[in-house]
Amino acid sequence: MSLAAARPAVLKIIEGAEVFAPEPMGVKNVLIAGDRIACIQSEPFALGLGADVVEIVDGRGKRLVPGFIDGHVHILGGGGEGGYASRTPEIMLSDIIMGGVTTVVGCLGTDGITRTMANLVAKARGLEAEGITTRIYTGAYQVPVPTLTGSVMDDIVLIDKVVGVGEVALSDHRSSQPTFEEIARITAAARVGGMLSGKAGVVNVHLGDGERMLSIIERIIAETEIPARHFVPTHVNRNSRLFRAAAAYAKQDGGRGRYIDLTSSSAADDPGLSCGAALKSLLEAGVPIGSISFSSDGQGSLPVFSQANEYIGLGVGKVDTLFDEVRKAVRDHGVPLQEAIRVITTTPAGYLKLPGKGVIQAGADADLVLLDAGLGIHTVMAMGQIMMGEGEIKRFGTFERDMLDALEKKKTFLKK
Ligand code: ZN
Repeated sequence: MSLAAARPAVLKIIEGAEVFAPEPMGVKNVLIAGDRIACIQSEPFALGLGADVVEIVDGRGKRLVPGFIDGHVHILGGGGEGGYASRTPEIMLSDIIMGGVTTVVGCLGTDGITRTMANLVAKARGLEAEGITTRIYTGAYQVPVPTLTGSVMDDIVLIDKVVGVGEVALSDHRSSQPTFEEIARITAAARVGGMLSGKAGVVNVHLGDGERMLSIIERIIAETEIPARHFVPTHVNRNSRLFRAAAAYAKQDGGRGRYIDLTSSSAADDPGLSCGAALKSLLEAGVPIGSISFSSDGQGSLPVFSQANEYIGLGVGKVDTLFDEVRKAVRDHGVPLQEAIRVITTTPAGYLKLPGKGVIQAGADADLVLLDAGLGIHTVMAMGQIMMGEGEIKRFGTFERDMLDALEKKKTFLKK
């Protein structure tokens, strides 16, 4: 058999699914050609081609939504706040696919020393070769931010994968305690770098539990010419005080160009601050849906600190919490599906300037998720390739199967 014959069909048809683009379109048939959506129509496609040319996916009784965008993932691993043994491992392809995520933005975090930008670029390129879409932020918690070329603007202009700066830490005991001027200069470089390269040029800002909250961001918007759209403050649901401040921030100017990002792996004690519940309360408080996004903080550490900011324990963030929280917003808090999914599709695609992402329309990338009746993830397609089908992972990362085998072997050494 030739290699070509073993490859998946170039054409695919998803038949009879209820399409949320994210706006509801009713029951449609979707034709996929290569890595793009070719056509969406109510009538069946009568192509008269064999199964080797066109693969049919049965979407009946299911909902079809755009593939999810996770704008803050520690794809290299993160952490280290509890010493070297607390560095979290690299993410694997299936960790992303299981969550219905087809686009990730990778970032460094607390540790910009043993985790490097070169390593981040390589990991992002690796994940893209494995089938999903990736972008990265240049920088880490610390200021001056670590970069590839020595300059934020050069990184954005010259390195295709770099869409902005992040995650820069503010109002946190782990931050570099940067000044207003330092953050203004970084944001200015991101803005101009974005202009020159046609990219977003956003600054993903890690907000900690500190009392200064969003104050530096608010001052930059008030006192400089830099528009608010360049800031994506994240982790805003980490405590109730910050959450209220973020809601007030996002409502200014009618929410135009204002974005706040909620973290789905959040370890906040208050269930009202979990993303699903928090989305509902933000909407009730009058924050426009288009100003709100979720990201998972996947593979990052979830360190637990004492009142005195001393490290006492650690967990690892999971990408699949991203849609878990959207599902909760729909099922437990009554947010309509077409609104709730915007926080992981159109909104991040907009502020990250990712054309062809986060939407189901002819010409868009074939990044798609089929949801079953209970809103479980049934099928995941990334750039036209089926990564998960019938709830089963179809594509693993390069070494994942070896690692699964090794894990099985290790299990035999566990005492029953
Ligand atoms: Zn963070």
